[in-house]
Amino acid sequence: MPRNIFSVMRKVLNRRNHISALLVILVIGSFSLSSDAQPPIHSSNSSHSDFIDITAYPNVKLDKRYACTNNFCREILDTNKYSCSLHPIAAEKFLKACQILAQEEPGWKFIVYDAFRPISVQRKLYEHVKGTPKAHYVAYPTYGIHCYGFAIDLSLVDNTGTPIDMGTEFDDFSELAEPRFEVKFMKAGKLTKEQYANRLLLRSVMKRAGFHQLQREWWHYEALPEHIVRARFKQLD
Ligand SMILES: [Zn+2]
Repeated sequence: MPRNIFSVMRKVLNRRNHISALLVILVIGSFSLSSDAQPPIHSSNSSHSDFIDITAYPNVKLDKRYACTNNFCREILDTNKYSCSLHPIAAEKFLKACQILAQEEPGWKFIVYDAFRPISVQRKLYEHVKGTPKAHYVAYPTYGIHCYGFAIDLSLVDNTGTPIDMGTEFDDFSELAEPRFEVKFMKAGKLTKEQYANRLLLRSVMKRAGFHQLQREWWHYEALPEHIVRARFKQLD
């Protein structure tokens, strides 16, 4: 069943975004050849109306933390109707990730904490940590590629809907959440082998779909390198 759903969704996505799909092929094709190669010049006139709503993806559960008070700011920050969306290039890759997850762990779902993030929300987040030791965990507003629709924050839930243990919560701004220190913390007994394996499962699925892991947050993935996104596309609010 999942394959049929994904097939239909891919056709719908392609039909709605045939121009964007061409850009996907051009940009991804170019990037896959060499990370130093320059993607072909194309329009960077992304707009919200180009974005793909991921709400309807089959194995996705939403838990938009900035649209409720369950976040580190303890206030509702994001009421933008496009905040469950991604740029078509990222959406296409995420659909592939959903397909891979359905094959790897039938019944499991991605739990999505954030996708497109309006730049005004990024500014509010940054203001909350500005001047504190946690400032380096939140992107400076002009850098954050959530605001381009190219980043997604997510984890996994099993087939009973139970969150998979990743060792920390989402937006745990500590070194324990940083993938680059995982082995060190596992040796120190602060991250279990199971928690580490769970992160590796998420990472494997996302990387096979073409995403990159941010080294400071186990939940954050980017569909294209930041320098390419910033050079080719626009931040949106
Ligand atoms: Zn993120």
